[in-house]
Amino acid sequence: MGFNSGLGMERSYYAATAAACPQSLQLEGQHEADVVVIGGGYTGLHAALNAAERGFSVILLEAGRIGWGASGRNGGQMIPGWRKGASELIARYGEAKARTLFDLGMEARALTLGAIEKHAIACDARTNGHLIAAAKPADIVWMQAEARALEGVMRYPHAHVLSREETRAKLDSPDFHGGFFDGGGGHLHPLKYALGLAAAARATGVQVFEQSQALSVETASGVAVRTAHGAVRARFGVLACDALLDGLEPRIAGRIMPVANYLIATQPLDDPRALIADDLAVSDSRFVVNYFRMSADGRLVFGGGERYTPNPPADIPAFVRPYVTRIFPQLANVRIEYAWGGLVSITMSRLPHIGRMGDLFYAHGYSGQGVLIPALAGRVLAEAMAGTGERFDVLASIAPPEFPGGAALRAPLYVLGMLWYALRDRL
Ligand SMILES: Cc1cc2nc3c(=O)[nH]c(=O)nc-3n(C[C@H](O)[C@H](O)[C@H](O)COP(=O)(O)OP(=O)(O)OC[C@H]3O[C@@H](n4cnc5c(N)ncnc54)[C@H](O)[C@@H]3O)c2cc1C
Repeated sequence: MGFNSGLGMERSYYAATAAACPQSLQLEGQHEADVVVIGGGYTGLHAALNAAERGFSVILLEAGRIGWGASGRNGGQMIPGWRKGASELIARYGEAKARTLFDLGMEARALTLGAIEKHAIACDARTNGHLIAAAKPADIVWMQAEARALEGVMRYPHAHVLSREETRAKLDSPDFHGGFFDGGGGHLHPLKYALGLAAAARATGVQVFEQSQALSVETASGVAVRTAHGAVRARFGVLACDALLDGLEPRIAGRIMPVANYLIATQPLDDPRALIADDLAVSDSRFVVNYFRMSADGRLVFGGGERYTPNPPADIPAFVRPYVTRIFPQLANVRIEYAWGGLVSITMSRLPHIGRMGDLFYAHGYSGQGVLIPALAGRVLAEAMAGTGERFDVLASIAPPEFPGGAALRAPLYVLGMLWYALRDRL
């Protein structure tokens, strides 16, 4: 898919370690269903699975292969809640609505872990917690406020601030001044999770088609989708294309912005627990965030560095390595065995864009925190199709504004802004 190709998914640690999955057929001829879902990542798969569980007939169209978008490439970090923390939600929406949103975020975690258990998805899931490491001494101030807001307003007792020494005991890095520990976090193998969801969806009756890119979507009566060799007519449609939406639906394209992000996996380390204790998922407090964890076979899986241009760096390992050695100088000579990139979709508010245009639903723009939320988004879209729109309305009410300049101008204007923040990280 255009912008997403060249980012090396076939060279990723995930593609190398997920069991090969039988390829689905390409869509050919005319089809009818209650629901047509466009996109085979977590959002589309959860929407399809939830709709099928409610008795709808469902067709899912994936342009490439299942899970080869962000869902099969990401850092695998399960970070509870939204990209905006409790304090920011309270400041923006007041305590009552912030608590409703927070509870929905926690439900997303429960739905994700519930789906993994119910469908027996073997995806190396670990739930020992997530640590945000403080890159600046001043980070401790907001971390303390966040822990207080979580405990006091959200009644969430599982997060607390760690001192410099406590952080160092979890993370063998000289780079950090303390940390924020959330016992609700964890990590998983993202592609195994996506492929497991697809197997569950098929078993629930969803008809999955791969290599079947939607070329147009019409909403004059019901939803009509056309691909190169076929077409689907349905009562409802779901756009679940995230950063790869491109020109398919210009009415919403200006709300999200694709940003390229890169990951590496090292050789297996002799003593993985010496680097990161308790098998935690870790990210840091930098604006251009570094995020890392150990894989099930003892490799450091590390994401760092963003680019706002469509061209991937010529040498992804060389691009990511300085971020690794800044945090772990002892890994200066470690072998990097896998390297790849993916497109994250971000929104102006860093909250997702979930809504509908008549019978055409959409959910995207999780802004780097989209491993857990799609389980909720899929559930809530299916609820709305079935006529219960209350929770859908809550999620739709937090819709982000358009990027300045809309889809055409968002990139150049935004790049300027991001470069400014990235520069502040470095100063
Ligand atoms: C490098 C990277 C690291 C990340 N790390 C984390 C992390 O550690 N923790 C976290 O919580 N989140 C992380 N994220 C974010 C998370 O991966 C995404 O928010 C989430 O996977 C989005 O899922 P999705 O199903 O909405 O989109 P995707 O997984 O991108 O799926 C969209 C699918 O739609 C298909 N598609 C697009 N257009 C069409 C069309 N016209 N017709 C048919 N199909 C189409 C695509 O091929 C794709 O498979 C990361 C993202 C990236 C890219």
